[in-house]
Amino acid sequence: MFLFKKKGQKVSESDLKRGLKNNEFVFYYQPEFDLKTEKVIAVEALMRWDSPTGIVPPNEFIPVLEQSGLIHKFTEFLLHQTLTDLKKIHEAGYSDVAMAINVSGVQLKDKTLMKTIKKALDETKISPQFLECEITETQPLDLPAMKETIFKEFAEAGIKISLDDFGTCYSSFNYLRYLDFKKLKIDCDFIRTLGDNVRNRTILSLIIQLGHILKIPVLAEGIETTEQKVWLEKNNCDFGQGFWFSRPLPIDQLMIFLKKKKEN
Ligand code: C2E
Ligand code: CA
Ligand code: CA
Repeated sequence: MFLFKKKGQKVSESDLKRGLKNNEFVFYYQPEFDLKTEKVIAVEALMRWDSPTGIVPPNEFIPVLEQSGLIHKFTEFLLHQTLTDLKKIHEAGYSDVAMAINVSGVQLKDKTLMKTIKKALDETKISPQFLECEITETQPLDLPAMKETIFKEFAEAGIKISLDDFGTCYSSFNYLRYLDFKKLKIDCDFIRTLGDNVRNRTILSLIIQLGHILKIPVLAEGIETTEQKVWLEKNNCDFGQGFWFSRPLPIDQLMIFLKKKKEN
């Protein structure tokens, strides 16, 4: 069965199964920085599919994984691989760096999710405080119910949740009403249009203030220019991420990046 078609390329369930079996799914890690100290606080795991026809970006195959039900098997692989890489990062001396993973609504609704997370933490001997789950608003979630179930389990286990792509969807504010986020990630669209006009800058500044009033540290995504970085720092944004600092990197290149950063 073909589930998804993009630019003439068909992504089938069997392609994905073969990809998983042949270890074709790889993670690139993009560092997150403290804007004041420029210290790396976390790395975000961004999935790529190194398929026989070339690299496929996550937006093209994750919906297929979700439609096919393969996403659950995939979550197991994701947790094991990213936490194993985090172990390498800690063992190399960067012991306060956290791992941020992206968790979709479909993954959150999986009743075995917490069991899978705990198993991966146990196997890799990573403390839960170093795992952050980034939640995106791709589909409506029953927040009051989830507050009492999966999000309660996250809190009890000491696993952090952050709100991804903040500001892009009508339900952003609803999320803030119900859940205790440890980080608010402002969508890159707000950063990209920062220089356009006063209205954009006012909204961005108010999002940062809102985060601080709610005692949630704020991270700006997609920083590409020095002007953006300087403005965000001046306006008390806590953390930043983007090509200005570093593109997402394979684990070996990330280790070199961290080493160079330490030496400077
Ligand atoms: P996201 O979580 O918002 O990730 C940030 C995206 O912005 C990444 O695209 C990253 O490469 C890109 N980016 C980072 N800095 C910059 C910048 O300075 N400028 C620009 N123009 N782009 C920047 P990517 O890797 O293609 O990921 C797209 C989306 O796919 C992610 O958005 C995330 O929602 C999803 N995704 C990635 N990996 C996973 C995964 O393992 N599981 C799930 N469920 N979703 C994933
Ligand atoms: Ca993310
Ligand atoms: Ca994002």
